Amino acid sequence: MTDLSNSLAAADIAHSLHPYTNARAHEDQGPMIISRGEGIYVWDSNGKQYIEGMAGLWSVAVGFSEPRLKAAALAQMDELPYYHTFTSKAHAPQIRLAEKLVEMSPEALTKVFFTNSGSEANDTVIKMVWYLNNALGRPQKKKFLARNKAYHGVTVASASLTGLPGNHTDFDLPAIPVTHLTTPHYWRFGAQGESEAQFTARLLKEIEDTILAEGPETIAAFIGEPVMGAGGVILPPEGYWEGVAALCKKYDILLVADEVINGFGRLGTTFGCESFGFVPDIMVLSKQISSSYMPLAAILVSDAVYNAIADNSAKIGTFGHGYTGSGHPVACAVGLENLKIIEERDLVGNAARVGAVMQAELARLADHPLVGEVRGTGLIAAVEMVADKAARTPFDAKLKLGAKAAEFCNEQGLIVRAIGDALALCPPLIVTEDEVREIVARMERALDATQAWLA
Ligand code: PLP
Repeated sequence: MTDLSNSLAAADIAHSLHPYTNARAHEDQGPMIISRGEGIYVWDSNGKQYIEGMAGLWSVAVGFSEPRLKAAALAQMDELPYYHTFTSKAHAPQIRLAEKLVEMSPEALTKVFFTNSGSEANDTVIKMVWYLNNALGRPQKKKFLARNKAYHGVTVASASLTGLPGNHTDFDLPAIPVTHLTTPHYWRFGAQGESEAQFTARLLKEIEDTILAEGPETIAAFIGEPVMGAGGVILPPEGYWEGVAALCKKYDILLVADEVINGFGRLGTTFGCESFGFVPDIMVLSKQISSSYMPLAAILVSDAVYNAIADNSAKIGTFGHGYTGSGHPVACAVGLENLKIIEERDLVGNAARVGAVMQAELARLADHPLVGEVRGTGLIAAVEMVADKAARTPFDAKLKLGAKAAEFCNEQGLIVRAIGDALALCPPLIVTEDEVREIVARMERALDATQAWLA
């Protein structure tokens, strides 16, 4: 794919260690250099055009090269390119964005703390939860409940919440007290003959049994993505989130919704918690908040969480936490303009309408000989390949079939993400009906090519 005589590619191999990359394979294959983007498309350095079927990293809601975001960034660079928010300092973009986020969010969430990334945001959540439980005189209430296959980031603490082996192996993680529970994926983890309702009941029982075994006085918070993203686009079974919310209430456990992927319309609702009928105590937002044009994340908290932190900061003299870039003015100005575009163009509604077309088109692929499950909602989906459709037997992992199929998608001019043998799709929220039909047609041709390669 890459011309290694290309000097940029050679320089990349010489100087870069890439995230989430097999470094030795990279030395042989070189990078895929993306040189420009427009709408739902990007072009590589050879001039080949691709549909960005993953919106970058699940994040470019308004598409690439949106002129209004560029203008917002330039205007803010002119006005005030940087200022911080420590020691009561503030500036208009950070104030206005916090106000906007509170206005958009569930009523119970009233205060906002900014970070640069989703990982930092979840790290901050852990510290907030510990800080407030110390303040409330319950220093033993510190453990987190998370799920296998969860993705909450890669800092030492947030990676501990993440439930993917690749984020723990040889990093000496988890490093904080966390229990990972069963992934709420009925198709993969439902037992033989178990109904979806029985599966939900079993998972809720597992959560309650864990709380009782460890002692409710030791469990601080339950964290989850309403729809799991990086773990493979996993939709919870019916009734799961209502049940989790009820258990959190019963045992005085904070409920944290990690909406880094779900937030701002991905599921066809403004937030994922809305789709599943629960209100969290803490909500974590990033990615589509600024369409990732600038690094930005936000944590929204309830009055109860805020008040406990505020009282403790008064006692200690400070809330001793924050980043140089917390509430960065250019990031916040871009975020504000991005949220305006999402509203003005009704991109949440577009995700619901065009998402329904994408899901219906993808549903046809369930009949493909390689496909075990097609799952998704709104504008997020995954197509999982299996060796035996009826028995749902996975392919031998050594085949790396998902990665192979993603290569065939690339050949078709479609960028997807392989998660094991599942191919994830998460196109920009501006995508049209015709474009999702084209995405699915390209994926279907890639699946055919994968099947031919296997034969
Ligand atoms: N939480 C979720 C649900 C995510 O999907 C991600 C990133 O994909 C993160 C947290 C971490 O965000 P970041 O990569 O900005 O640190």
